[in-house]
Amino acid sequence: MAMDARPRLRTVILTCMDARIDPSRLFGLKPGEVHILRNAGAHATPDVLRSLAVSQALLGTTEVLVLAHTQCGLLGQTEEQVAATIERASGHRPNMRVGSFMDLDAAVGESVEAIRSCNFLAHRDGVRGYVLDVKDGTVRAHGDPRGEMKPRAPSSPLGLGALRADVLNITRTKTER
Ligand SMILES: [Zn+2]
Repeated sequence: MAMDARPRLRTVILTCMDARIDPSRLFGLKPGEVHILRNAGAHATPDVLRSLAVSQALLGTTEVLVLAHTQCGLLGQTEEQVAATIERASGHRPNMRVGSFMDLDAAVGESVEAIRSCNFLAHRDGVRGYVLDVKDGTVRAHGDPRGEMKPRAPSSPLGLGALRADVLNITRTKTER
């Protein structure tokens, strides 16, 4: 049986490369349902924007979920510190931005804004940021450090609405049962 290349949930998940994050398990995803883009820090780098443009225009996705996480290796270091570490390891100073950050929620907000303001994306309304707590596996909306996920009516039965329902389920099992 041939599987459609277009993600059934019409959603792209941008997350960090951190080995503790398993997006498929976290959201109960099956092959064929989403695009998953990963890099150090879950940043909206030029290559992420390129992939999003392809994903939307060629493969029909309409929503983007940015999932950053606590205890990120790039959190709490300056650009200078990370650049110096890379230079010590490789003998060469990186000439690209390394993407370190001091404020987790602000970093997610930057990625969300960069995606929302990318002219090559046809669908920029459904871009949302979340933070995964790697200690307990809970997910909260970014910008809400106290962690209340407010149930909202899904905008559609598929797409981010479905994922958001799963996010809510994860939170519920941790806090209510
Ligand atoms: Zn990370």
